[in-house]
Amino acid sequence: MEILDKLQILSGAARYDASCASSGSRREGSSSGIGNTSQGGICHSWADDGRCISLLKILLSNDCIYDCAYCVNRATNPVPRASFSAREVVELTMEFYRRNYIEGLFLSSAVMQSPDQTMERMVGVAELLRTEERFGGYIHLKIIPGSSSELVRKAGLYADRISVNIELPSSESLKRLAPQKQKQAILEPMSLIGRQIQESLVERKTSRRAPRFAPAGQSTQMIIGASPESDFQILKLTQGLYRKMNLKRVYYSAFVPVNEDNRLPVLASPPLLREHRLYQADWLMRFYGFSAEEILSDDAPNLDETFDPKTSWALRHPEFFPVEINRADYAVLLRVPGIGVTSARRIVAARRFSVITPEGLKKIGVVMKRAKYFITCSGRPFEKIDRQPAMLKSSLLLGDGGDTAVKKPPKQLVLPGIFT
Ligand code: SF4
Repeated sequence: MEILDKLQILSGAARYDASCASSGSRREGSSSGIGNTSQGGICHSWADDGRCISLLKILLSNDCIYDCAYCVNRATNPVPRASFSAREVVELTMEFYRRNYIEGLFLSSAVMQSPDQTMERMVGVAELLRTEERFGGYIHLKIIPGSSSELVRKAGLYADRISVNIELPSSESLKRLAPQKQKQAILEPMSLIGRQIQESLVERKTSRRAPRFAPAGQSTQMIIGASPESDFQILKLTQGLYRKMNLKRVYYSAFVPVNEDNRLPVLASPPLLREHRLYQADWLMRFYGFSAEEILSDDAPNLDETFDPKTSWALRHPEFFPVEINRADYAVLLRVPGIGVTSARRIVAARRFSVITPEGLKKIGVVMKRAKYFITCSGRPFEKIDRQPAMLKSSLLLGDGGDTAVKKPPKQLVLPGIFT
């Protein structure tokens, strides 16, 4: 098979993996090598089929011995199969890099003969790129669950980011939909990677020559909507992963039905709004000091479709509002709908010099169409507002303080494919 035919098959097969964002790495290039993630300005744009256009996003192989219900590459699907050799991936990466098509490589794979055999070949690609080609660009390697600790360690030494896909939010769903995958085989490498990242950071404080281990951290991906777990279960799992496994990002991927299988739900379309809400809630946990238990509960286990999670929380907690802009702590400001991390910081900084006025808030970047219902400025509310939750809800919906995601559902950015 020609290499371009393989490329068609294996780039197409990789499009369902959403976890290829590439922030956070600062691998500096050398004068004798090629590529530099610091200068590369790795782009976060997404093609309409899920590819991150600045990375060469491919599978090493789609010839899988496993049979996960939700996957287009499962063993029982009659799809065209292809596998790259390590050398072919290296040549493609270098060629595309030189042509300025890409700034790095995102390499995943189906399980070929065994997890170790597959992982060994993937690590071989990264090793050739770093040592023979002296490639300094970005590399993201997927870890195949079940591969040896030694290979996981090697992967982390060559790649900027490594990730193990958790796939489904519970071990019951994993057993049902991906019976050949074991929960332990997913969690063990995650935990090892978390420890190795920490150790590497400590060692590099004492010696700059100490090797770096996955400097852009580890991430994972979860499929949303293929199994019955609630958003609360998903957020609690996410919270645990951030706290215990030292994860940089959890990616949520709306389930796209590609197989007919009576273990899978029948969906009219992928649950993109749900995916969007989960990203918003994830953001609240990482940057706004919210816990999963504050966002949802056993009694209300799913995210509101109408309002974003922060507005939803604010509507459930009228006792917390109004917040006085000229006195509230930073952490309190962060809880106000319409005030983000940057605007909260600016408010705190600006208050040192003068009293903040409504006009000042607009200049600071506060989204007043939402915030005005929840704040006072020097004791004065912005308009005569009925603070009953039902009234606030209708004011937000009737005014322009609702969520644009509801009026205009999330859609991935459409950009021309690099192969057309
Ligand atoms: S292991 Fe499962 S999810 Fe991965 S390629 Fe094979 S069938 Fe698909």
